[in-house]
Amino acid sequence: MSNPHRTPRIGYGWDSHEFKPGIPLKIGGVLIPHDSGLAGHSDGDVLLHALTDALLGAIAAGDIGAYFPPSDPKWKGADSVVFVREALSRIDDAGYAVGNVDSTLILAAPKIGPHARAIQRNVASLLGIEPDQVGVKAKTPEGMGTDNAAIAHVVVLLTEICWP
Ligand SMILES: [Zn+2]
Repeated sequence: MSNPHRTPRIGYGWDSHEFKPGIPLKIGGVLIPHDSGLAGHSDGDVLLHALTDALLGAIAAGDIGAYFPPSDPKWKGADSVVFVREALSRIDDAGYAVGNVDSTLILAAPKIGPHARAIQRNVASLLGIEPDQVGVKAKTPEGMGTDNAAIAHVVVLLTEICWP
């Protein structure tokens, strides 16, 4: 008998990183040609970090920093795909699957439009869902004073895994 309390769950994640010259720029696991990249925790993949937090938040399992502390040198330069995979395994253990994801990136440069489909495809494949289940949107900061940073907001919907 199914538990009536097991309803779909939403998760929300937010992250930001500062641009530093001369390092690779990775967003959603995709390498994007640019003169600077995102510094900070691991490879600085702002979208995958926000996604990880959204996934963990959906099952109230804490946040990325609890599992992968930025103070631990082990995660310096790490591929952020590792964080998403860990969150996915927690979700699977909890009996949920990803229904869909929506995201918004806020950055002054580079333009995300030409890379949006690659990001969408990569995130979908990472999550084991179809590209049309992943929204990738981008806008510029418009005077917010965050031109030297990239910000990502991600929302996910989890659905219960139904066993046949
Ligand atoms: Zn981050």
